[in-house]
Amino acid sequence: MNRVLTRRDFLAGTAAAATMMGLPIGPARAATASSVSLGDAEVLVVSDGSLTQPMSFVLPDRSPEEIAALGLPADTLHPDCNVTLLRTPDRLVMFDAGSGPLFQDTVGALADNLAAAGIDPGDVTDVVFTHAHPDHIWGVLDDFDELVFSKARYFLPQAEWDFWRSDDAFADLPEERASFIVGARNRFDALEEQVTLIRPGEEVLPGVEAVDTAGHTPGHMSYVLHGGGDSVLVTGDAILNAVISFERPDWRVGPDQDQDQGAKTRTALLDRITADKLRIVGFHLPHPGIGTAERAGSAYRFVAG
Ligand SMILES: [Zn+2]
Repeated sequence: MNRVLTRRDFLAGTAAAATMMGLPIGPARAATASSVSLGDAEVLVVSDGSLTQPMSFVLPDRSPEEIAALGLPADTLHPDCNVTLLRTPDRLVMFDAGSGPLFQDTVGALADNLAAAGIDPGDVTDVVFTHAHPDHIWGVLDDFDELVFSKARYFLPQAEWDFWRSDDAFADLPEERASFIVGARNRFDALEEQVTLIRPGEEVLPGVEAVDTAGHTPGHMSYVLHGGGDSVLVTGDAILNAVISFERPDWRVGPDQDQDQGAKTRTALLDRITADKLRIVGFHLPHPGIGTAERAGSAYRFVAG
């Protein structure tokens, strides 16, 4: 894994020049993008910030002792949000679009972090969604309800499109998630002219294979990116946490809509990741979320890097 230095160097140079000219400068930025190469393509990860989730929501069935035994905090998790981009010689494909300005205060940093990485939203040719939860799709709209990635084509799982537009959504979800339904429908309306609905197993774009990972949501998909004889799996939320999902993939977790199917999907995906020695990018794994999985006894271990 190497850091993208160009833009940071540029910013450092700008800051030095600004200081010399007596201009005010902002706080120093950390590097905002990490990358791995994939043949003649590059996989970049840019942060959208982090969420705040009560542990009682994440692991509703588990006792404080079970949670402490995994070394997890008792009260709150702050999962990172890692947006993956695939830069090929002729495309810039983004997987999910972050939260935008309206979800939680600690997320919605994608636009700033893309800019810091030297990426213009107008250069994004394609946006491919794993699912339609707020932290993955709300970021397609800016403060003025305009499409941020205005020139992009959008790809969304057919089953996801169907579910969030159906009456079942209101019946299947608790009342506090009604905003998820309204929010998804608003975004679907905004990108309707530019969206292609996709199915598991399809090659969505050259070298981008859609994998059925339903459970977290009814149409959730992950994507295997192929290039130069190598592969990277963009997991989305099929894998949620670097500890819980790997050490106890069989546990039911609150963020999954169908918690039993989510656990089955997660275990099967970890089997594939370890068998195929796939490198992964996990949307909510510690930033940048790049790593591999190893078997550890009857479970797994996340190895960052
Ligand atoms: Zn998520």
